[in-house]
Amino acid sequence: MKSNPYDVLIVGGGNAALCAALSAREQGARVVVLERAPQQERGGNSTFTGGGMRFVYHSPEEIYKIADLTPEEIANTDFGTYTENRFFDDLYRVTQYRTNPDLAEVLIKGSNAAVYWLRGQGVHFVPGYGRHAARVNGKFKFSAGVTVGAAGEGRGLVDTLYAAAARAGIDVYYNANVKSLLYDDHGVQGVDARINGKSAAIRSIAVILACGGFEANAEWRTRYLGFGWDLAKVRGSRFNTGDGIRMAIEIGAQPYGNWSGAHAAAWDLNAPAYGDINVGDGYGKQRYPYGIMINTDGKRFLDEGADFNILTYAKYGRIILAQPGQMAWQIFDSKVIGLLGHLYNIKQMTRVRANSLEDLASKLEGVNKAQFLETVAHFNGAVQQNVSFNPTIKDGRGTSGLKIEKSNWAQTISDGPFEAYAVTCGITFTFGGLKITTQSEVVDTEEQPIRGLYAAGELVGGIFYFNYPGGSGLTSGTVFGRIAGKSAANFCKQIGS
Ligand SMILES: Cc1cc2nc3c(=O)[nH]c(=O)nc-3n(C[C@H](O)[C@H](O)[C@H](O)COP(=O)(O)OP(=O)(O)OC[C@H]3O[C@@H](n4cnc5c(N)ncnc54)[C@H](O)[C@@H]3O)c2cc1C
Repeated sequence: MKSNPYDVLIVGGGNAALCAALSAREQGARVVVLERAPQQERGGNSTFTGGGMRFVYHSPEEIYKIADLTPEEIANTDFGTYTENRFFDDLYRVTQYRTNPDLAEVLIKGSNAAVYWLRGQGVHFVPGYGRHAARVNGKFKFSAGVTVGAAGEGRGLVDTLYAAAARAGIDVYYNANVKSLLYDDHGVQGVDARINGKSAAIRSIAVILACGGFEANAEWRTRYLGFGWDLAKVRGSRFNTGDGIRMAIEIGAQPYGNWSGAHAAAWDLNAPAYGDINVGDGYGKQRYPYGIMINTDGKRFLDEGADFNILTYAKYGRIILAQPGQMAWQIFDSKVIGLLGHLYNIKQMTRVRANSLEDLASKLEGVNKAQFLETVAHFNGAVQQNVSFNPTIKDGRGTSGLKIEKSNWAQTISDGPFEAYAVTCGITFTFGGLKITTQSEVVDTEEQPIRGLYAAGELVGGIFYFNYPGGSGLTSGTVFGRIAGKSAANFCKQIGS
């Protein structure tokens, strides 16, 4: 065991990688993290997140234990609960019952402990008031399973985990682009990498792949997701180009999960090609349940109120991508503008405002003006005014008689001033990846674990199909990262004994 400088080598430097590293270290393993990005861009997609985490909790007291709350916040917030059954229901429903039941069970049952473990690593949590709560009669209510997020959002989470890794004595190399796995009849023995532009073979007893999906690889996106996906913007890291998936498949790992599927959401039309860490998730525009979305033909093309946005946004990017010009406008009137939250009030966004619908129509660049006005008129006439509007529940205030109905939260677009936001498709991460066991061992095409190879995070296939319950990505990385770290360290102990 001691002939290798490291027991466990981690490929990647985001949440899943750092959780795996800390977990392996907890078991006494000598751990190294190889992060492709330079230090100032470290942390992968995890850095770009709002930090929101979906996890099971049974009482508000469980939130009080991990979140820093003022007495006023406690008094003015209904945190509700999020039971295992609800998490199972949400995950199964949004994935159309395709999620791997064994992996789903590990994710859901491990979610509560994962968040407490992160708290133990120094991560602080705060309620996601601006993103996941709605306010009625002065009281905030969380309804859809994402209640708290890491303090300091993704950047705060990642910096805290790097600090914990440094305290634990974990070596980290930046500019460390892992190219392939060292593999022979005894299993995986380390990696070949380019570190600061120089080739290096780094040996270890076990390797954990936690280096993201292929969302930042335009060629693979087009190859696997299909026509037009080269035109999507990347919401996060430019470094997740499918390397871990490729290098594992090269040694016989089994491709698994929804290879034609991805998490993709409404994203500012003029956002840069890759995420900008100074804006983070700010380009996201997910408050469409309070308005309507129209394409350049001037027509609605989806049910904006099908469910809470946290349960629909990840599949709507694909539908926006399929519209003419790969774009849409989100339209709101003054009744709901106060509900849009801080992400609709940043500097870097494509917004137009007008006092009348006619003026708004002429400001919607490229949109069929007459059709837009007709669409709004039909929509307004179809709103079920007799049902009360309530953003804290699926209020059933829908439309009636439209080709594409709106199921909840329908409000007439009638009271100026009006606002419109131009969006396109921003890809978050891809769903296809590697097959793992419940112990995070990577499985080959003969269904056998590949000796010494483990995986966690985005590159694990089989959990998400078609859609995704928001806040599950960080939870998945933490749950399976912890398991991968422990499994890899235990494997090293066996080899060493
Ligand atoms: C804008 C945005 C907002 C989001 N908001 C949320 C949220 O609030 N809650 C939530 O749960 N999820 C959110 N997500 C999804 C979430 O980011 C991911 O599910 C999660 O962070 C994935 O973690 P990971 O560690 O697997 O991947 P990443 O964090 O992307 O880490 C992958 C790492 O691998 C490195 N890497 C890639 N290739 C190589 C290589 N060849 N060699 C070495 N290293 C390599 C990368 O540099 C990176 O450090 C969001 C994503 C984005 C983009």
